[in-house]
Amino acid sequence: MADNIILSILAHPDDAEFLCAGVLIRLAREHGWQVHIATLTPGDCGSAEHSTEEISRIRRAEGARASAIVGGPYHCLEERDLSVCYNVQTLEKVTRLYRQVRPRIVLTHSPADYMLDHEMTSTLARAAAFAAPVPNFQCDRGHAPALDRIPHLYYCDAIEGKDPLGREVPCSFLIDISSVIETKAEMLTCHASQRNWLLKQHGMDHYVATMRDWSARRGREANVAFAEGFRQHLGHSYPQDNLLGQLLGARS
Ligand SMILES: [Zn+2]
Repeated sequence: MADNIILSILAHPDDAEFLCAGVLIRLAREHGWQVHIATLTPGDCGSAEHSTEEISRIRRAEGARASAIVGGPYHCLEERDLSVCYNVQTLEKVTRLYRQVRPRIVLTHSPADYMLDHEMTSTLARAAAFAAPVPNFQCDRGHAPALDRIPHLYYCDAIEGKDPLGREVPCSFLIDISSVIETKAEMLTCHASQRNWLLKQHGMDHYVATMRDWSARRGREANVAFAEGFRQHLGHSYPQDNLLGQLLGARS
């Protein structure tokens, strides 16, 4: 497995820029890691004015522009918004991506989150991490060779830090992103279509401010200005050492 590659695999364009872009920027800048940002969908329902095809095209381009800021490619797996499912076809797409990108670290959504696209993406990311190193899994699908090992898997914060029942979802460690908060904001600003959509759908006119507020809240828990929270998947046979925390300085 090629080393020093991190893949963020989330449901929608702009999720990475809310949840984990600070870590991606720091790994690229401070440790020379290669960053890949993937989404299951092009966010095709995220508009009240464009057709699904138009908004998909706009949002793929926004995702690619944001990803370019951190020097990495953007991948869209072309599932549909509000329809991400755990099934064999989608698992095949995620496994294929893992075998192509060959990440050492994978970041995905919290297993419990505010909407099912996020939860399904989390399940797919977990399953593919286990499956991608298994040589006989989908070995007839023209994939790149199986991974040498299961990548380190981390869950980002749930949106607003709560599960579907409103219960707090605490992180297990925090990463200081104070030095890169402006770049994180710059990446989020690339998603211009969403600021307009969220204003209409959620009455939210503070797209970047919302990201800053959440990062600042996690920052207060770590006694720094801005932070991102994570939990590591520690089930049997997944890597047990906290590689991300060791590289960037985990705070609890
Ligand atoms: Zn999302």
